[in-house]
Amino acid sequence: MARPAIVALRARIVLPVSEPAIEDGGLLISRGRIAAIGSWRDLRRKAPAQVQDLGEVVLMPGLVNAHCHLDYTDMAGAIPPPKHFLDWIQAIIALKAGWSYTDYAASWLRGADQLLHSGCTTVADIEAVPELLPEVWTATPLRVRSFLELISVRRRQRPATLVRQAGRKIHDLHAGRCSAALSPHALYTTNPELLKIARRAAHRARWPLTMHVAESVPEFEMYSQGRGVMYDWLRKNGRDMSDCGGRSPVQQLAELKLLDARFLAVHVNHLARGDASLLARSGAHVAHCPRSHAYFRHAPFPFAELHDAGVNLCLGTDSLASIGKENRRKPVLDLFAELRAFADQHPGLAPEEFLDLVTRNGAAALGLGGKVGQLSRSAHADLVVLRAAPTLAEAAESVVHNVPEVAGVMIGGKWAIEPATQP
Ligand SMILES: [Zn+2]
Repeated sequence: MARPAIVALRARIVLPVSEPAIEDGGLLISRGRIAAIGSWRDLRRKAPAQVQDLGEVVLMPGLVNAHCHLDYTDMAGAIPPPKHFLDWIQAIIALKAGWSYTDYAASWLRGADQLLHSGCTTVADIEAVPELLPEVWTATPLRVRSFLELISVRRRQRPATLVRQAGRKIHDLHAGRCSAALSPHALYTTNPELLKIARRAAHRARWPLTMHVAESVPEFEMYSQGRGVMYDWLRKNGRDMSDCGGRSPVQQLAELKLLDARFLAVHVNHLARGDASLLARSGAHVAHCPRSHAYFRHAPFPFAELHDAGVNLCLGTDSLASIGKENRRKPVLDLFAELRAFADQHPGLAPEEFLDLVTRNGAAALGLGGKVGQLSRSAHADLVVLRAAPTLAEAAESVVHNVPEVAGVMIGGKWAIEPATQP
């Protein structure tokens, strides 16, 4: 007998994120998407379906990780927290020099597995080794937005050639569950010409763009004042420094017309006056990586300023090369852990607002609003099953503050981790 095309999932609590939590709720799933959501009593009546009763669990959207470097996963714990940001950059350049393609591939896949087991279903990943694609895509069930990294400090290659090569690679990859776009690494590792060409290519193809922005004091000084340790180091290394001085990094991005609703700025730890409203007006998004931020001991993340200005904020894990050991153990990629770290630093937000940071805000930042990061009709059936039994009123709060037990993960209607079901 043919299996029914519709699957019905029942859970004691459903946390759709885009609407209030539902007690004794459920979902109908058809062709990889959510066909209906609501109370189990109503759904059961219209469900000619294969029923899976998940029991005493919280069912919520799979998390959206807005910034990651999966290929650095096996660098976990390799670089102790540095005194200066530049020391870390030099340490990772040295580490990377000793790595082979196989090292990167194994590292990427281990990272994907860690994200999956900690309840993440979509990840924005920076690809320093684009040769890994598409093989690694086919080896993970995750929904991956791969951003091919563009770096050009000494302009060894013409910017137009660099962007054309990356663009060709993206077209050859054929977007499906996974897709690719461009990520100029940062202002200081690129140049205005490269950024303008990358922007034009992204606009033409309607790709999102993501970039590290105003992460450290030296970067902020380099652009605002045309001086500092990063300025001196890069000048010594042959970089053309004529784009520095007089503008904050955010102002420089605005000047280059990079800020718009398809632009995801990562970190943004340092703002000049007016930068927050510049970002908000442009519709650009900001990803914050709490544990990486703590590792570098950056100045406090200007959350209130960005939030009050109306910027869409989301969270990312960053790479394990910049997350400290915890209880002497190597860290693992875990967006729930990032959320708890963030909540510790920023008490006072409603639990629902915290959850938005790792679900629908990240989805919006990646151009996937309404498609992932929420349980709603016609969204992808990307969800996570947490073994927990909070009251309905405390469900969101318990997910934010407690270490959740991930009992199941579904992506596109298929179980990537199949939970036990009630008889
Ligand atoms: Zn990064």
